[in-house]
Amino acid sequence: MEKRQDKFKRYTITSALPYANGPLHIGHLAGVYIPADIYVRYLRLNEKDVVFIGGSDEHGVPITIKAQKEGVSPQEIVDRYHGIIKKSFEDLGISFDVYSRTSNKIHHETASEFFTTLYEKGEFMEQTSEHYYDEERNQFLADRYITGTCPHCGNENAYGDQCENCGTSLNATDLINPKSALTGNKPVMKETKHWYLPLDKYEPWLRKWIIEGHKDDWKSNVYGQCKSWIDQGLHPRAVTRDLDWGVQVPLKEAEGKVLYVWFDAPIGYISATREWAAEKGVDWEPYWKDKESKLVHFIGKDNIVFHCIIFPSMLKQEGSYILPENVPANEFLNLENDKISTSRNWAVWLHEYLEEFPGKQDVLRYVLCANAPENKDNDFTWKDFQARNNNELLAIFGNFVNRTLVLTQKYFDGVVPEITSLKEIDNILIEELKTYPEKIANSLENYRFREALGELMNMARLGNKYLTETEPWKIFKTDVERVQTVLNLSLQICANLALYAEAFLPFTSTKLYEMLNISRVLWKNGGGINLLKAGHPLNKPDFLFERIEDAEIAAQLNKLLATKEENAENNIQVNPQKENIVFDDFVKMDIRTATIIEAEKVPKTKKLLKLKLATGLDERIVVSGIAEFYKPEDIIGQKVSVLVNLAPRTLKGIESKGMILMAENAKGELCFVQASEEFNNGSEIK
Ligand SMILES: [Zn+2]
Repeated sequence: MEKRQDKFKRYTITSALPYANGPLHIGHLAGVYIPADIYVRYLRLNEKDVVFIGGSDEHGVPITIKAQKEGVSPQEIVDRYHGIIKKSFEDLGISFDVYSRTSNKIHHETASEFFTTLYEKGEFMEQTSEHYYDEERNQFLADRYITGTCPHCGNENAYGDQCENCGTSLNATDLINPKSALTGNKPVMKETKHWYLPLDKYEPWLRKWIIEGHKDDWKSNVYGQCKSWIDQGLHPRAVTRDLDWGVQVPLKEAEGKVLYVWFDAPIGYISATREWAAEKGVDWEPYWKDKESKLVHFIGKDNIVFHCIIFPSMLKQEGSYILPENVPANEFLNLENDKISTSRNWAVWLHEYLEEFPGKQDVLRYVLCANAPENKDNDFTWKDFQARNNNELLAIFGNFVNRTLVLTQKYFDGVVPEITSLKEIDNILIEELKTYPEKIANSLENYRFREALGELMNMARLGNKYLTETEPWKIFKTDVERVQTVLNLSLQICANLALYAEAFLPFTSTKLYEMLNISRVLWKNGGGINLLKAGHPLNKPDFLFERIEDAEIAAQLNKLLATKEENAENNIQVNPQKENIVFDDFVKMDIRTATIIEAEKVPKTKKLLKLKLATGLDERIVVSGIAEFYKPEDIIGQKVSVLVNLAPRTLKGIESKGMILMAENAKGELCFVQASEEFNNGSEIK
């Protein structure tokens, strides 16, 4: 373990820059910030030279659109969310050395310089192409600034990159009747020049560096995604945009153009390091340019291509930078079996959690690490949150510490007793305790945070088992000396828990150190039984964790239920009207009232019912796809409307003569359409 680390003199640890157009939710935390913070705390406990970098990503079109909708400047939007995000990180104990933002001057300078270096080296391809342009505003239109009719479903409010009604991804030029979202005018096509990063040129190098070089040390989900991107073939990617919000392209001929947000955002890590170094009075460059520095990017899986392929290509071509050693991206966290979504408000928002569960930062940190989506998508549920608090943190960790401290208070007046003599059970305990520092470190070095946290809990389990087996409360009256040894060893485990919990549960660690009345211990000094000296006075014990009651969980579930209901009300979508037909088209259809007189399921199908209808004209068989909504026995006698002159069709070997009319809602549920009075069968509907 030590050897692996010693290869590097210093550590540059970045975490994805959250986009400053909304607050943070648990998905961000589980995917990126909790594992990054654990890793960094672990390095600091090992006295490593480390800089932990975070910051807000404040450029890009979604921010300008939000600003426009609210009638404020983009700067006001990013100021608002940067403030909320920064504060909630601090309150959760995410221990950034610097939390910067890409609207800072130093970032504009750094990104500009980076572009210029690549430009002067001739790395970019220049290409002119036609894009939509709003003549009234004298502005090129980003895809999100163009709306029009979707060519696939007819939705009139599709965006230039996607139709949100049918989910098809589009090019702006696919839209029928395109309109500028700024003025409502019809945009014109106009030529514009952009600069492209020729990723296709870097393919052989990327293949060697990732596919050959990182087969064994990158996570399989990350490696697999990179391989699939490279195997599909890489294409040049534009690094500039026609927009007025962002880092100006530092070329005379590029007035009114900014760096594309994916180009400038990762450079934000470098800018933030410069900001931190300037404040600290140290040189930033070794953290990014010295081969003895280890660069690790913590990100979610949606960012893999940017951090494994594009940014490393930029760093490589620039020439003076090191490359990431690892990019331990996580998969996604879902909430109560549904995808977390900002637009549907389906999330647990960090700033709300911190208000509603004061003092319980570590419970969230624990649950999000214990259940982290390390190799596959995972689900956060409030029931699991409650169970992990009550059955794990409280029942295992909290219970062990509390029993040990309360017994010491009771029997020895809160003073650490001495070890009198060691029995075999004690020696086994001591030997096992010794193994934990390396076990936990080994998991952390390999970015297996769940496993590492599991080992910390095993240390508490070890303590509980020891107390249960030695039963000091039973022997105190007869063998005080034995109880002294048992409680001394139990207290040593408590001190070790305080040490190793610092990486995962920093608030709990601080509280436990206070109760033990000792100061922080380094990783290398743990694992033994010498952290507390005999005769050392402890402080009064207090509870580390509290039970979370059903009512608190019910309140959270009700909140989500209310969101679900609100979404359902807002989401009632009506399909657009079909093309006009003439009256003659309509009168060709012979629709009659009828009654269902027999009904049975069509075997081996899920949807079909075989129905016999009295139509007034005859009795006939109609096969209808309504079995998911009606049971055969419930619809005998049901009045229906039926298209009787539809040419007969054979379904599953049954001839169906006609079609029953059904109403269908947005969820795809069906119900019968019937005459509102008791008209006789065979009455015409026209
Ligand atoms: Zn569509």
